[in-house]
Amino acid sequence: MSTLRFKALELVEKRGIRKVTPPSSKVSDYFGENTFDQRVMRQMLSSDIFENLQNAIKKGTPINEYDADAAASAMKTWAISKGATHYTHWFQPLTGTTAEKHDAFFKLSDDGTPMEQFKGSALIRQEPDASSFPSGGLRQTFEARGYTAWDPTSPAFLIQSGSSKTLCIPTIFVSYTGEALDNKAPLLKALERVDIAATEICQYFDKNVTKVTASLGCEQEFFLIDRALADARPDLLLSGRALFGRKPPKGQQLDDHYFGSIPPRVKNFLEELEVESYRLGIPIVTRHNEVAPSQFEVAPYFEEVNVANDHNQLLMDIMEKVAMKHNFKVLFHEKPFAEMNGSGKHNNWSLITNTGKNVFAPSTKAKENLQFLTFFVNTLKAVYDYADLLRASIASAGNDHRLGANEAPPAIISAFIGSQLSAVIEELENNGDIKVDKGDNLYMKLGIDKIPPILLDNTDRNRTSPFAFTGNKFEFRAVGSTANTAVPMTILNTIVANQLQEFKKDVDALIDKGTKKEVAIVNTLRKYIQHSKGIIFDGNGYSDEWVKEAKKRGLSNIPTTPKALDILVKKDSIKLFEHMQIMSAAELKARHEVLLENFILKLQIESRIMVDMAKNHIVPTGIKYQNQLIENVKGLKEIGLDQETQEIITTIKIISKHISDIKRLSYEMTQERKRVNAIKDTRKKAIAYDEDIKAKYFDEIRWHCDKLETMVDDEIWPLPKFREMLFIR
Ligand code: ADP
Ligand code: MG
Repeated sequence: MSTLRFKALELVEKRGIRKVTPPSSKVSDYFGENTFDQRVMRQMLSSDIFENLQNAIKKGTPINEYDADAAASAMKTWAISKGATHYTHWFQPLTGTTAEKHDAFFKLSDDGTPMEQFKGSALIRQEPDASSFPSGGLRQTFEARGYTAWDPTSPAFLIQSGSSKTLCIPTIFVSYTGEALDNKAPLLKALERVDIAATEICQYFDKNVTKVTASLGCEQEFFLIDRALADARPDLLLSGRALFGRKPPKGQQLDDHYFGSIPPRVKNFLEELEVESYRLGIPIVTRHNEVAPSQFEVAPYFEEVNVANDHNQLLMDIMEKVAMKHNFKVLFHEKPFAEMNGSGKHNNWSLITNTGKNVFAPSTKAKENLQFLTFFVNTLKAVYDYADLLRASIASAGNDHRLGANEAPPAIISAFIGSQLSAVIEELENNGDIKVDKGDNLYMKLGIDKIPPILLDNTDRNRTSPFAFTGNKFEFRAVGSTANTAVPMTILNTIVANQLQEFKKDVDALIDKGTKKEVAIVNTLRKYIQHSKGIIFDGNGYSDEWVKEAKKRGLSNIPTTPKALDILVKKDSIKLFEHMQIMSAAELKARHEVLLENFILKLQIESRIMVDMAKNHIVPTGIKYQNQLIENVKGLKEIGLDQETQEIITTIKIISKHISDIKRLSYEMTQERKRVNAIKDTRKKAIAYDEDIKAKYFDEIRWHCDKLETMVDDEIWPLPKFREMLFIR
């Protein structure tokens, strides 16, 4: 009997359900108790220092040494009072995850007296030994070391590690020569640019608008698998994806899991996750079963993009920790199980003014409607003009398995807007140039007095679109479940900011020529619609017809990561990012390099795991079973049943063939890997990994191994099967 798999199964059968007792039945009693948020700051800092910090948070003004010391001292007192012994700068290097290096508050003074200390300088800047983080060649010289710098716009928080707590300070990670080495620094710049550009546009309509905040709510999909079963599979353990395995006879075809009742063990996991999230100020409000068996989703209430992104990163981290307590393993991979639904992280995005208005919310007031249409059309134009950049922003080895598979949006970027808005846009497009006379009802003449107010409840849902307007926000659905949302959010906010700047130029030019403001706006929007309407697609994004239609429209369809990333270093992209002062050519090239490297490493690891599992787990099992059959044939012959051996001998031959094919393909793939590993050019190497290794060998090796799974005696099969991982809880 294959011991590990069956021991794991026994363990799973005996699992109890971990009890969860929330600290209070009212979440508001403990929400944010582990965050150094506004409330705590107000309590612990003098009012002028609090004011200065608020200005730093809201307006980006620099923080002086005196204020930093006061903030550090307050943070230390607060953290120690809650049981913290260490602090760390918490940052998001280009690995796509988070990093931390803990330092003790405890110090020995010059005369040897023990004391707790945390200075403003340590709050503001740290120099982690970060030489082993990917930098795409940005940090090759000694001078270009990296440092982390406090991001006061995201609250510091406490994380339990072992028996003590650590104060985590959100930071950006940059080189001494000023280049961003992380995902957060460019995001903060993009958010500032979109704020400035959107505020200027809002000023056309409402002089009270002085700030526009981009907000993000990300729906996080994931699979939950019993830990013992996941541990018994080297592929899940090391790559987060089942590289082998037959789909069970019952999968998701009955749709009986989606929104079904949550299994009790999972429910308790989710409850504890919520409690831990609330303590950290992460406002989780939604939880439900997803389409595939053992697939689930949690979603927070939306927040300002930078905070929402930090919260999502933190959420993924605590999910893994809480899952351990419930003996689960969380799989964030975009496609852990072939032929089952993949997981995404839908990025719901909007822009909200300091006056509390969401610019993407249609209104019953004509003037507000013009503002809505302005932002709506400009976003569509940005998406049309920079679709390839959006595509690149979601490219990863994992997402390549999901995009274009039959339950996820394709690798074609298009926008769904729904029938009502399509009608509005069409009317706007087809109106001729408008002349307004004295006494005219301007908005009626412009044709924008009649966007139905019920739009929000009425938007048709299109689950197949990669970028969908859902009533008062856009939902970027093509984002993968492992993504750091800072990457797509940087691109989206940059292209929209850039587009709004262009819009202002176009409109002002018309106004300067004497056109009335509203007419100038509408005429400019009309031009934009004509230019970019090819991006609008409300049909079935999963269909083959769409692929053909998109091609006719000239929309790109770039199914694989290495090629999707090309756009990052094209002349127009560099021009855009330099013009918007978000990233330099060197930073873009570095990112391009890091993302390609990451893609190569992921495929290299998977390829190695495949060979290891095929050679050390699957082939020996095939041989063992074959020997059993050979014994069987001998026995049958001994008792004179020669006739009955024919069928068994055929099976032995088939098994033999699979085994020899697996061995041959594994050998060939390993040789091919050696050749590809020697390729110097990173892009060529990534493409070779994709086309010469993944495409040529992965599916074929898997096919033979999965065939063996169906033939070999279940009693000796070493790897937990899909049905066991997906259906037992
Ligand atoms: P769905 O019906 O698409 O599953 P929900 O309406 O539950 O989605 O919302 C999904 C996410 O969108 C949530 O995180 C929610 O807070 C967020 N969201 C709602 N309104 C906005 C907005 N104006 N800006 C950004 N995110 C938003
Ligand atoms: Mg949604």
